[in-house]
Formats: sequence, structure tokens, C-alpha cells
Amino acid sequence: MSVENHNFEAETGKVLNIVINSLYSNKDIFLRELISNASDACDKRRYKSLTDKSFASTIDLNININVDPKAKTLKISDNGIGMSKDELISSLGTIAKSGTKAFLEGITKQKNKDDNLSLIGQFGVGFYSAFMVADKVEVISKGIGTKKSHHWSSDGQSSFTISETDKVVDGTEITLHIKKDEKDYLDTFRIENIVKNIQIIFLIL
Ligand code: ADP
Repeated sequence: MSVENHNFEAETGKVLNIVINSLYSNKDIFLRELISNASDACDKRRYKSLTDKSFASTIDLNININVDPKAKTLKISDNGIGMSKDELISSLGTIAKSGTKAFLEGITKQKNKDDNLSLIGQFGVGFYSAFMVADKVEVISKGIGTKKSHHWSSDGQSSFTISETDKVVDGTEITLHIKKDEKDYLDTFRIENIVKNIQIIFLIL
């Protein structure tokens, strides 16, 4: 099976570097970003299925989190709208052009790391926060209405690969290969606690 290699856009690489190295004072935030993306994906599917029944899921839309201490992975999966090959490349390989420049300008003006949190949400660099705790991230996705599924993989440095895979169920599965010094994120209780806090934040917002 052929594997394509793509370089991140120059601007994306710059943002990636800032997000990983200096942005978050609280690394737990990465989980909120990924769960929020999974939740958006389920909402999008729900919305589409209102007008087109073929988009409806035969099972409840859900988000699963799986910790595997042996494999040193943390997996977040959803059966939402999923991504096609082009969407994987554009959504995870580039940052919306309009936002990138403003993001970079904004970030240099911030005085403390907490102020940067709002910038992340504003400019959509949330996914990249996974690289704060993972040295490799794999995304397997099948967009609804598409026959093929794809595997996206990156070490968050300068490039990512894309290849065809054989996921049958619509939706997205994100696997984080947790860094050696971030082992805490392989502890189920820790993850459960973070998720509980996220639920509280979602209820307040
Ligand atoms: P934002 O969510 O603010 O747009 P992200 O960097 O977190 O920025 O995500 C970029 C894009 O990648 C999202 O807008 C969405 O189109 C796509 N994406 C990320 N995660 C998922 C997912 N689980 N399912 C479907 N699409 C996703």
C-alpha cells in the first residue's frame, strides 16, 4: 500500500512549534481539545442525518477513550462525521490561512500562557496540542458517505504521512503514543479525573 509523505505548511510548522513548546501551562488541555473535536464531529453527523437519512448511525453516537499502558497509547475514538483523505490533509496539515497570521501576531502579544488558551480555540490549533504529550500521533478516519478510509501519522516535527487503510466504521480514531516523561497520561484514574473536569467545564459553558 502506498504511503504519501507531506510536509506541514511553513506556517503550520511554526504554530506547531509554539503549541508544543510554550503555549500551554496546563497540558491536560489536550484531552479537552480532542474530546471537543470528537463531540463536534458527532454533532455534525447528527445535523447531516436530519436532512439525509443515509448519514444516520445505526448505533448511538459516542466518544470512547481507551488507555493502554502496555502499548503506551491513549486512544480517543468517535463515530461522528469522520474525514476523507483530502479533509485529513487540509484539516490536520494546514491551519486556516486567515487565522494563522492573526494567531502568530496574537501569540507574540500575550503576556502569560493562560491568555494563550483563548487564542487556541479562536484559531483552531487544538489538534496539535496532542503533540505536547505524544511523540507520535496516528489518526484513522472514514468520512461518512465515502468508501475508503485513511491513516494519517506524524511525529509533529515537519511532516506527516497518509495511506489507505481498512477501517469499516465511519468516524475517527486518534492514537497518541505517549512520551516517556508524560506517563501520567497512561493512568486510567488520571484520565477519568481530567474527563470529569472537562464535563464540568462543558456544563458551565
Ligand atoms: P478546530 O477544532 O478549532 O477547527 P483543530 O486543530 O482542533 O481545530 O481541528 C482541525 C479540524 O480537524 C477540525 O475543524 C475538524 O474539521 C477536523 N477534525 C479534528 N478532529 C476531528 C474528528 N474527531 N472528527 C472529524 N473531524 C475532525
